[in-house]
Amino acid sequence: MLSDLRSIVQQVSEAADLEVSLDIIVSRVKRSMSVSVCSVYLYDEQNQRYLLMSTKGLSQKAVRKASLGVGEGLVGLVARREEPINLEIAEKHPSYRFLPETGEEKYNSFLGVPIIHHRRVLGVLVVQQRVKRKFDESDEAFLITLSAQLAGVIAHAESVGGLKRLTSGQGADQEVEYRGLPGSPGIGIGTAVIISPVADLYATSAVKPRGPKIELEEFEGAVLRAHMHIKDLERSLSGLISDQERLLFTAYVQMLDDQNLGKEVKARIKEGAAAQTAWSEVILQHCKHFEAMEDPYFRERAVDIKDLGRRVLSYMQEKQDEKLEFPDNAILIGEDLSADVFGMVPPERLAGLVSAKGSVNSHLSILARAMGIPTVVGVEGLRPSKLKGEEVIVDGHHGYMYVNATQEHRQHFEALQQEDAELNAELEQLRDLPAVTQDEHRIKLLVNTGLMADVRRSIERGAEGVGLFRSEVPFFTRQRFPTEEEQRQFYRELLEAFSPRPVVMRTLDIGGDKALPYFPISEENPFLGWRGIRITLDHPELFLAQVRAMMKASYQLDNLSILFPMISGVPELDMAVALVKRAHKELTEEEGFEILMPKLGAMIEVPSAVFLARDFAKRVDFLSVGSNDLTQYILAVDRNNPRVVDLYDAMHPAVLAALQHVVYAARAEGISAGLCGELAGDPLGALLLIAMGYDSLSMSASNLLRVKALIRSSKYSELGPLLKKVLAVADVADVHQCLEDFVQDPELRRLANLKKITTH
Ligand code: PEP
Ligand code: MG
Repeated sequence: MLSDLRSIVQQVSEAADLEVSLDIIVSRVKRSMSVSVCSVYLYDEQNQRYLLMSTKGLSQKAVRKASLGVGEGLVGLVARREEPINLEIAEKHPSYRFLPETGEEKYNSFLGVPIIHHRRVLGVLVVQQRVKRKFDESDEAFLITLSAQLAGVIAHAESVGGLKRLTSGQGADQEVEYRGLPGSPGIGIGTAVIISPVADLYATSAVKPRGPKIELEEFEGAVLRAHMHIKDLERSLSGLISDQERLLFTAYVQMLDDQNLGKEVKARIKEGAAAQTAWSEVILQHCKHFEAMEDPYFRERAVDIKDLGRRVLSYMQEKQDEKLEFPDNAILIGEDLSADVFGMVPPERLAGLVSAKGSVNSHLSILARAMGIPTVVGVEGLRPSKLKGEEVIVDGHHGYMYVNATQEHRQHFEALQQEDAELNAELEQLRDLPAVTQDEHRIKLLVNTGLMADVRRSIERGAEGVGLFRSEVPFFTRQRFPTEEEQRQFYRELLEAFSPRPVVMRTLDIGGDKALPYFPISEENPFLGWRGIRITLDHPELFLAQVRAMMKASYQLDNLSILFPMISGVPELDMAVALVKRAHKELTEEEGFEILMPKLGAMIEVPSAVFLARDFAKRVDFLSVGSNDLTQYILAVDRNNPRVVDLYDAMHPAVLAALQHVVYAARAEGISAGLCGELAGDPLGALLLIAMGYDSLSMSASNLLRVKALIRSSKYSELGPLLKKVLAVADVADVHQCLEDFVQDPELRRLANLKKITTH
């Protein structure tokens, strides 16, 4: 049964849609378990009943007709109890309920298991037997395993509207709601432009061959480009990778040659196949072979082969790519959009972004926020190619996308868009006013930035400086590490643009979810692995080049501070400080530059840093909390994983306690404390941080004026008591409730992104 299980799971995961998946499950289970009936009932939200959606064995006429209420019949009971029910003689059970339309009377034995996803019962999977049969534990385990798998498929269909369509039996032109994560706030309404995914190895079967000669030429051209690419990559990494790692590149090159993959592909082309088809088939076959291997090392190589396959295929497809046209309100949609989309389309035509992959804190989202483009990311199950030319609505406030929206819905979003525009225009007037509470408590509002593109917006919005320059961002857009001089030039541009305002530049923070294309890091557990300062201290040549470039760039501007990311212990901090001092000494004493020593800061992003904050504070000039990472590490919740997104909350009492502790530590050593995670840009979060004693808050430019408006409408004297209340509760829901209760004024609630209070 184990091999059956594997192959059913595989077939289900490859199925085109939910309906097909259900049909596969019922027919394969019926056969594998040798039962008379296998059926799936799914919860129909509209009618609040479990509807028979697919069956092998019961009358087909009953499909989408027969249904049971919650707690009704054995199916309803399985759902209510959220556990399997296994009966040798079903009829004798008090809950047994006869549904004549299913032709059920002939079946004696019953085994039903709930289909549960994220604690919600989505349906019930049932098998029945004509003759009396005692289903054993292994039968139960088999069904439970399948139902867990099916739950993921159903939840996915639900997220893309497929489930609603199936249970309601409505057509494909109905409004479809896609659920994702809010990458950047705002409403975008426009036409979908699909940014092609990396070449798809599964979609080449329809390519028409143009004769072996042309196809062979195309293939050889693509292979040559792949060779050159690998060689370039190898060259740019020389000195940074070990000989062992270099062997991997050699293996890639060998794979492409005529003795290996190349030979098989050419043979197929000579037999009449198109180059793209031949290549894709050979690659997929090899992947299958590697995926089936016992040794995990070899299994993982399948991923490398697929990567290589996609790259070569993309070279073959490049020539045939149609030229993209951008309508006035273009909504760019793609499998895994990256920051280069900002360069593809004129900014005035870009109305929104939607990406199947990515997260709220991904590079794309951070830049989209800085540029003010409504964005939704992490939309599971999004099939971009099907949306080309459709009118879509992007709700970047809540993380939804709508296709074929109803007239009513469209009007609702147009009104919201109008409201946003009005609010932004109102807020513009605050630009040159200080962030000060009504009772004169002053706080510095700074911006987080990465690219030069958002500098103008930041200054226009009245930023008092940069609280966090994510220096890795310009590294992403290159083919290799930038040289010291290249770095100096772009750091200079930034320091000049903000001068005399202060700029905090963070040293390279890669690893985790931030990989440089030319410095790949493959780890089992990247967030607990080689990231941030750990990488740069292991590569002092990278670190020194960067801090030298930063210091040289600050010449006669003197507005630079340097910040170290992901510090988890005192030795790391000591080493980082010593390296900067050494670089400064070399620049001033040996190379004759007259440069002031910049202020140095440590980021507080991991629990150990919270506990050691006071020791850190003794060694640097300021502390800056990275609440995005700190939340993920304190709560043990991956900041990028949509499955646990509900658990990720920077207002969790444990996180708030840590944040308060950090300010006390900084105060005790007489240095300043700031916060530069997303919490600072949340208007209510900002109020709590001010009450805690933070001196500066650094956020994306889009949030700055909203936060300022709320600060200017608040009284510092009322924030202390609010904080006291908040710090006294143990449940994050109660934290939100305290904040809800605190802001009553409708105008302020609008600023704080809170719902209107409705009175009945
Ligand atoms: C943080 O972790 O809060 C932070 C500001 O750094 P980043 O989001 O770049 O990891
Ligand atoms: Mg961080």
